[in-house]
Amino acid sequence: MYGFLIGITSFLIYDVVALKENFCVYICPYSRIQSALFDEHTIQTIYNEKRGGQIYNAQGIKLSNKPPLESGDCTGCEACVRVCPTHIDIRKGMQLECINCLECADACTSVMSKMGKPSLITWTSSMEIEKNKKTNYFRFRTIAYMVALSLVLVGLFVMGSQKEYMLLNINRTSQLYKMSSDHKTVENVYTFLFQNTDSKDHSYYFELSNSELKN
Ligand code: SF4
Ligand code: SF4
Repeated sequence: MYGFLIGITSFLIYDVVALKENFCVYICPYSRIQSALFDEHTIQTIYNEKRGGQIYNAQGIKLSNKPPLESGDCTGCEACVRVCPTHIDIRKGMQLECINCLECADACTSVMSKMGKPSLITWTSSMEIEKNKKTNYFRFRTIAYMVALSLVLVGLFVMGSQKEYMLLNINRTSQLYKMSSDHKTVENVYTFLFQNTDSKDHSYYFELSNSELKN
């Protein structure tokens, strides 16, 4: 128990003091799971390249920090990059490191509001940004996830509601075995612990299933 407490405490201190955002980038399974489950209707933090302009090409190479004025609204201020706790540039597109904290969206909202324009980074789906179509929340994928999760939850509740009303613990003691003089029988000593874990009284009985064993 002490080892467990010391281990957990040490890890939490190390996590908060030294690991920090690297926990989100390298350890937390959230981004790995989201990248496997997402589709074009998934709501996430997205940079609007149509309005803002292209900053990176399809290979992820930075074209320029600021698109030509006529082609995009992004000012190239990089406020969105500076606030990002995982040090990524959302203008590059969806990345594993993104934890969807929306800090970049807030930063861009402040910048763009000074020009009377809406934020270039919003909580939306690529379907809305790229195809100007409404996000479909109730599609096969989300319904299947809900059904699967509901089944798991029901299973957990059913399993959690079933309780064993007894506890049986049979342990061999440290006492050495004894062998009879004719070498036909061996005698071992066991501690037999039985507990009724229910609030009501119950009657139990025991029997040995192996005829060669005797008590
Ligand atoms: S939501 Fe924005 S600020 Fe937050 S991790 Fe993703 S890119 Fe970075
Ligand atoms: S905060 Fe907005 S305007 Fe500034 S670089 Fe990021 S996307 Fe462009």
